[in-house]
Amino acid sequence: MCGTENTTLPSRRPAASNGTARSAPSPDTSSVINLDQGDPTMYEAYWRAMGDRCSLTISGSDAMSYLSNPKGTCWFLLPELEKSIRRIHGLVGNAAAEAEDGCYIVVGTGSTQLVNAALYALCPRDQPEPTSVVCAAPYYSCYQEVVELLQSKLYKWEGDAHKFNKDEPFIEIVTTPNNPDGSIREPVVNRPNGKVVYDLAYYWPHFTPITHQADYDIMLFTFSKCSGHAGSRIGWAIVKDKEVAAKMTKFVEVISIGVSKDSQLRAAKILGTICDDCQTLGTNTKSENFFNHARRLMTERWEKLHEAVKRSESFSLPKYPKNYCRFSDEFFETHPAFAWLKCNDKVKDCESLLKAHKILARSGSRFGADPAYVRLSLLGREEVFNIFLERLSTIKIGISNGNGHHI
Ligand code: PMP
Repeated sequence: MCGTENTTLPSRRPAASNGTARSAPSPDTSSVINLDQGDPTMYEAYWRAMGDRCSLTISGSDAMSYLSNPKGTCWFLLPELEKSIRRIHGLVGNAAAEAEDGCYIVVGTGSTQLVNAALYALCPRDQPEPTSVVCAAPYYSCYQEVVELLQSKLYKWEGDAHKFNKDEPFIEIVTTPNNPDGSIREPVVNRPNGKVVYDLAYYWPHFTPITHQADYDIMLFTFSKCSGHAGSRIGWAIVKDKEVAAKMTKFVEVISIGVSKDSQLRAAKILGTICDDCQTLGTNTKSENFFNHARRLMTERWEKLHEAVKRSESFSLPKYPKNYCRFSDEFFETHPAFAWLKCNDKVKDCESLLKAHKILARSGSRFGADPAYVRLSLLGREEVFNIFLERLSTIKIGISNGNGHHI
C-alpha cells in the first residue's frame, strides 16, 4: 500500500469455519493503533449484514480469458462492470458517465494504477524535459511517490501547484473532496499548456453533498472509497477523449495485461446492489441504502471527534460548509474520510506527539504541509475509532504529567 513504510499492517483476519470472514478481534486497549492508512474497514459490518446478497459464485471455468470486450476501447473491461459504473453515476448524479455523455470507461487495478495511466496518456512526447506534475498542497502523499518511483523521462513531480510558475506543459491533479483535508477544490494553476486530472475518489454522498454533476475530461473513481472494497483493487476512469482512453488502456495492458475479472465481477455485483437498494429503498435518510447508512456513520464519527477535540483543548479541525446534496435532497456538511488535525501552537510535530500516545498518524510534511498537522483515517473499525477518541480527548498539550514529561 502506498505510504506504508514504518507502519504495522493489520494482521490477517481469521476465517470462520464456513469459509466466510468473521469480524476482526478487538484491539488490546493498550496497543498502538494505526490511523495512518485510509483502510475502509468501517463498512464491513454493513456488508456482513447484507448476508449473501452480494455473494457470487465463480466456477473453475468462468472468467478464464484475458479478453472481456474485444471491440471496446477498454478491451479488458467487463460489460457488466461498465453497466454498473454508468448506472451508479447516473443514480447518484456525481459524474456524467452515460455513453451519450460522450465518455469512455477505463478500468484499473485501483485508481492508483489509473493515476499512472493518465500521466502516461497525457504527457506530450515532443518535450525536451519531463512534464511537471503538480497538485495544490496539502496534496495526497501517494501522488509524489507514484510520480517519482520510476524516475520517468515523461514526467516529474513539481509539488505544490500554488507555486508552479513555469512556461512549460504541466499536469495538475485536482482531488475533490481533497485527501488529506476534505476541502472542495478547483484547479489553481492558471497557465497555458496544462491538463487536469480530477481525482474524485471521495465525491460520493457519504462523504460530501453532491452539489453538481462533474463533467471533466478525466475523472478517477475507486471502488475502495465508493463502497469500501479496497481489497478488490478496482478503480475506473471516465475519459472524454477516445485517444486518451486508448492510451490509458494501453498502459494497463502493458503493465498488467488488464484487470482481474474476478474483482470486476464482484465490483459489478456490489455496485449493482447499491443501485438496486437506492432505487427500491429510496434516497431519503429514513431508509438505509449504503450511502445513507455510511453517511450516518460518518456524521456520528465526526460529531464524536469534535467532542474529543473540544475535551482535549489541544487541537483544532477544519470547518466545512453546508451544501445541498442533489442525491439525498438535504443540506449537510462534508464528512471527510480523514481528519486533518492541527496541534495547538506549542507543538511543532503532531505525528510524534500522537505516536507518544500510541496513535499512528501521517505527518502534514508528507502532504507538502506543516508538521503541526496530521492526517488521521476515520475509516477504521469502530473499536479502534473509540480507542482513538479516548486517547485523543485526554491529551493535554503543555500540562506536565508530574514526571517532568509533557503529555
Ligand atoms: N486517490 C485518492 C485521493 C485516494 O485517497 C486513494 C486511496 N487512498 C486513491 C486515489 C487510490 O485508491 P485505490 O485503492 O483505488 O488505488
